[in-house]
Amino acid sequence: MAETKEFPFNLTFPFSRTLGATLSTFCSALAQGQIIGVRTGGRVIAPPLEYDPDTGAAAGTDWVKVGPKGTVSSWTWVPKPTNLHPLDRPFAFAFITLDGADTAMIHAVDAGSESAMSAGMRVEAEFKPLAECVGRIDDIVAFTPATDPSPSVDAGQPFVAPDENDITEMDAFCDLTYIDNASPTTMMWAAALMDGRLIGQKCPQCARTVIGPRGMCSVCAIELDESHVIEVPGKGVVSNFTVVTPTPYPGQTETEPFARCSILLDGADAVIAQQEILDVGVNEIRVGMHVEIVWAPEGQRNVDDIDNRSRGSGGDAILGWRPTGEPDEPADLYLERMM
Ligand SMILES: [Zn+2]
Repeated sequence: MAETKEFPFNLTFPFSRTLGATLSTFCSALAQGQIIGVRTGGRVIAPPLEYDPDTGAAAGTDWVKVGPKGTVSSWTWVPKPTNLHPLDRPFAFAFITLDGADTAMIHAVDAGSESAMSAGMRVEAEFKPLAECVGRIDDIVAFTPATDPSPSVDAGQPFVAPDENDITEMDAFCDLTYIDNASPTTMMWAAALMDGRLIGQKCPQCARTVIGPRGMCSVCAIELDESHVIEVPGKGVVSNFTVVTPTPYPGQTETEPFARCSILLDGADAVIAQQEILDVGVNEIRVGMHVEIVWAPEGQRNVDDIDNRSRGSGGDAILGWRPTGEPDEPADLYLERMM
């Protein structure tokens, strides 16, 4: 089976970070629509740093208002922005020395076209409406070409910080998208699911049967291919399970506790993982419980989500597993099993 399938995988998760005293002051000022720097070593560094990069000495708290206008010193054009870029149309990333500052900061310039960009051009910060500012660098939507190139009015004036900053943390998202190629066994597994069949692979060395799109024996560390495929029954025993109590976080759609189970199929040596048990509450799930597969009706099966990491994911082809009512097996039988 030489056919390959590409599928994009998107990993997104939020995290919060503390800002420290200097960036807390900077971000709290941003939320008020003010950009600041710090005067240290005879110059103004903006955005402010905690330590003077030349001497390593503490930069102190001699805050200075800078901008909102500044001068571009160098730039690079971004013709095709991704979902992670600050603007959804072509723009420039530029080093901008704000009025009142001696160092450059990097930000986006929304100039319309590459030909409108030049070193030495005057630009001006365009803030979000004040009510939407949260104290992040993207409170400044972008810099735009300044309609009036004259110096910023308050630039270089002292900035009096409050005793306590409003903003001491920021939320950020890690967002990573990459393309994966489905392995040949992933393709075989997905095709079998569409037919309403489960397949495993029998290792020629240790004679164990593994389930799902693994393509290898995890005991012998040898590759398994099409020649090792065998059909396995849609019946087995719950070998372990986890009850997940959902906490609200971005992307979590579950609100009630749910279980994800590993099932050791009859005749197999490795489990099919991450399965859902139907018809019973999470408190009734037991290790040793006999279950059987419930397929989605033919024509309603979908395996688009199946990838190399899925370890037996059923996509939308397997609805779940229902208890058969047979007497449980002793739970001890399922200790020290291979995954
Ligand atoms: Zn083996």
